[in-house]
Amino acid sequence: MINKTECYNDALQQVRNHRHFAIEQANALRDKLLTEHCELKEIENRLIALSKEKMAAKVCGDRSFAEIEKEYIKTKEKKQQLLTQLGCENGEFSPVFNCNRCEDTGLADNQLCECVKKLAHKKMLDWLCKDIPAHEFNFADFDLSYYQEGAERNHMESVFQRCQSYSANFNPQANSLYLLGNTGLGKTHLTLAMAKEIVAKGYQVIYCPTQSMITALEKEHFGHLSHPVGDYYRNCHLLILDDLGTEYLSPVAQSALYDVINQRILLKLPTIINSNLTPQELEKRYGERLVSRIFGNYTVLSFKGRDIRIQKQLASKKI
Ligand SMILES: [Zn+2]
Repeated sequence: MINKTECYNDALQQVRNHRHFAIEQANALRDKLLTEHCELKEIENRLIALSKEKMAAKVCGDRSFAEIEKEYIKTKEKKQQLLTQLGCENGEFSPVFNCNRCEDTGLADNQLCECVKKLAHKKMLDWLCKDIPAHEFNFADFDLSYYQEGAERNHMESVFQRCQSYSANFNPQANSLYLLGNTGLGKTHLTLAMAKEIVAKGYQVIYCPTQSMITALEKEHFGHLSHPVGDYYRNCHLLILDDLGTEYLSPVAQSALYDVINQRILLKLPTIINSNLTPQELEKRYGERLVSRIFGNYTVLSFKGRDIRIQKQLASKKI
């Protein structure tokens, strides 16, 4: 499993690699322009000579320092004008860094620069979000014709619209959702379509089978992770737990699950849970405490119909 140190080391390396790249690019551009433009080469040589003259003028001085300085400034302006004409954006041969604060060294005021911290945080989230197969699911592909015409389809159409509107209007204070229904009724499809749109808006979304989160939190509990991951589950903009009710339940798992769900409610951060467990079944499995937190705070969307996967299989056999 990836850990926080690895993320920070990777991030620092990436920032420093960019520094090398930026310097190499600047040097290559400098060499190219000096080779191709004699006038620029002459100006550059003149600037070097004037720098030496300035130093000499300070010591003994054939010409006055002020006179040399005046010519130096004038020559430098000429160089910058010429570089701008040649399309050199910053009018100098300076490297273009991503972070002006640390100039891509990764360190500012002898501390890790914010740019490294931001990048490390993003890497950790990317790793946690890597299970989102969102590219496979869109709202446009959701086919309502699999639901029986009449009350069932009307109901599912309203569920579909609720999900669309949830992602369209998403903000980190949005409601939490409990998507309830048997396997194969489109819960994962709509959840991933929502995740895709919300990720595209720039929010941090963690999607994972409940079992994956439980495993990570158990490892953290027993000290098997060098750095904790729990905060990512507790604090991301949207946590999506797929298939609640299929995971292996130990007392540690139960307490870890309650802790994440409860913390997110206290922080007013939204969670989407997919499950085929009714409130009664959920209570039997997890106890009254967790069930009352979920059903006291989540909006329930119930899915109706017949297993779409089985319907598709039957349809393909007919052909
Ligand atoms: Zn920086």
